[in-house]
Parts: sequence; C-alpha cells; structure tokens
Amino acid sequence: MHTYARLPVTFASGEGAWLVDESGERYLDAISGIAVCGLGHAHPAVARALCEQATTLLHTSNLYGVRLQQSLGERLASLSGMDKVFFCNSGAEANEAAIKLARLYGHQRDINVPQIVVCEGSFHGRTLATLSATASRKVQAGFEPLVQGFVRARFGDLESLRAIAKNSHNVVAMLVEPVQGEGGVRVPDDGYLAGVRQICDEHGWLMMLDEIQTGMGRTGEWFAFQHSDVVPDVMTLAKGLGNGVPIGACLARGAAGELFQPGNHGSTFGGNPLACSAALAVIETLETQRLRHRAAELGRRMLDAFRGNLAGLAGVIAIRGKGLMMAIELDRPCAVLVQQALSERLLINVTAERSIRLLPPLVIDDSEAERIVDTVSALVRRFLQAQ
Ligand SMILES: *Cc1c(COP(=O)(O)O)cnc(C)c1O
Repeated sequence: MHTYARLPVTFASGEGAWLVDESGERYLDAISGIAVCGLGHAHPAVARALCEQATTLLHTSNLYGVRLQQSLGERLASLSGMDKVFFCNSGAEANEAAIKLARLYGHQRDINVPQIVVCEGSFHGRTLATLSATASRKVQAGFEPLVQGFVRARFGDLESLRAIAKNSHNVVAMLVEPVQGEGGVRVPDDGYLAGVRQICDEHGWLMMLDEIQTGMGRTGEWFAFQHSDVVPDVMTLAKGLGNGVPIGACLARGAAGELFQPGNHGSTFGGNPLACSAALAVIETLETQRLRHRAAELGRRMLDAFRGNLAGLAGVIAIRGKGLMMAIELDRPCAVLVQQALSERLLINVTAERSIRLLPPLVIDDSEAERIVDTVSALVRRFLQAQ
C-alpha cells in the first residue's frame, strides 16, 4: 500500500555505517534505519547469534518457557533497575502495553475513566491507542474516533503538569519521551524528569518513559533517564534493542510490574528465541565496546563542531541533542535537504518539518563523524543562502 513516501534508492547490503545500493553506490548512514541499527549494518556478533539461533530454535510461543527471553529480561532489568518485562515486536506495541498497564492500575484504584498525561510534540506510535497518545494531527487525521483517556501537557513544562494535576482527578499516569524524537529532538531542561517524578509521586501517577528512540545507548547512557537520578515506574523500548530484528519491550518496577496477570495481555511472537538472541548480542556488544560512552563523547564533539560551523547563521534556530541523537532546527521547512544529502551519498532525516535529525550508528569512527558534520554543514549553508 502507499503508506510511505519513499526515496528513490534501494539498498542491497551494508557494513558498519555504510549502505550499498543496488547499483553499487556507497552511502554513509546517519539515520541508522531510524535509530535502529546502533551497531551499524551486518554486525558480525548479531549475525552470528541469529545464524546459531536459526539453526537451533526460532519459535515455540509463550505457551512454554523461553530461556533466552528470561535471560534477556534479566539483563534488561539489571541494566535499568526495572523488575519485570513484557516482550512484544515493535515500539507501538510496547506503548500499548504501557497504556494498558496504566488503565489496569487506575481500575485497581477505582478510577473508572483513567486518564494518561501525554505531551505536545510527542510521538508514541501508529496503532489506535498510540496515535491517540501522539500529538500530531497528521498522525491522527482520518482515524477518528480517537481512543479516549489522554490529556495533554506542554513538553518540558512542569507548571503545565501541575495545572493538570490540580484540575483533573482521573489521571493515573504520565507517558513521556525523555528526549522527543519525531518532535524534533527536543531536549528538556536537566531537572525535568526529576520534576515529573516528584509530581507523579505526589499524585500517585505511574511515571512511564517512552525510551523507544532514546534507549540502548543512543543518548550516552543505556537509557536516557539515567542522565537524571530518578527511575521511572514503566519504560518502553524497541528500535535499537534488536539492531533491525523486530522486538519491543515494556518494563516495569514495583507495583506496576505486578499488574498484568495471565490472560490480561500477550503476543504470539513477543520475546521469541530469534529476536531475543539478537537483543542479547546487541547488549553484549554495546557493553564490551563501551558504545554508550562513545556515543556521549562523539555526540558532544559533533554538536560542538556543528555549533562552530553553523551557530549564529541566519536561519539556524537551534543546534541540540544528547549523545548521537542530534538536530539542527532551521527557521523554515527543509525536507528538501534529505534529497540533497542523498545526492551526496549521505542519509539524513528531517522531522517536524524544520529539524534536520541525525541518528548515526554508535559504531561510527572519527572520520565518518567528521564527514557527517562537514557534509550537513555545507548543505545547510547552501540551502539557507539559496533562499
Ligand atoms: C519509533 C517510535 C515509536 C513507535 O515505534 P514502532 O516500532 O514504529 O511502532 C514510539 N515511540 C517513539 C519515541 C518512537 O521513536
């Protein structure tokens, strides 16, 4: 179906931060399949894990114990401080699980019309519940009636959250991205998550973080909340977890981890041995190669370089990011830059119309990082001068 406005290129293979199209042209990948391939393409550790698992056991369903699912759950729990995990196959599904958890939590407290606070500028997925939680009219238009039970706060604004707490008595949870991805790589002030935690605690709300884009080392920590000193009650993961093998997870801590009981929720494929083998290899590699530290350091350097090249230029509104999740916001729509970058054999993305978004693999080397900075800086200069 015509669901995507695709660029006129088809890739046949890849290695590290490079993709090769069907005619043999090489492209430097600064988007990683939208924050999915943190280890780059055709990573040998992931390939090995998948090959071994494919010749051992692909799938048995959740009617039975799944050893690798248990191992992956334990690994994710120890990295994040969460207690329990539900596995699914995508980000939207992970958020669906979180939304269902929040509703169960509400009903257990005799709140019969539970509300979840979500933010302006948010993106949480394309299923009916998650598109209703998403702030974009473009995502919602034509799919009404929307799923009820969401109230909207301004992102990064604790006052707006306090106002909701004061006026609305059916709120049971807040679902928020630690750094908004599709919304333009919006990084809130340092104290924001601590403030959210405090308001959630004061009102008995679950604090639920959508780390689908920010998780798995992307921002310089395993999970973006680890830049703060608070821990959420619920966290969702997907994108970078399987390096391209579809897998999602909804993690929970304390009482939130005890809400689902047999029969409440499920997934045929969720947490199958193949997907879990990939995710375990991803975690192992991120850990042994210290890639989250590399992401933090390289991200800082790239942001500095962009600021050196572009700060103060008329038309450049902001240069921001955390780790290897970065954006340059312009004062005008700039989607055309994606095509122009493609002509220069560089893959980038424009989100929220005006923000050039970069999500390179965490494995890029210094010269690849420089090449991204130089090419994007030149494109932006040319674009702004031509207008
Ligand atoms: C991509 C994304 C989703 C949706 O994930 P899918 O796997 O496409 O369903 C949800 N939340 C955030 C923050 C995302 O970046």
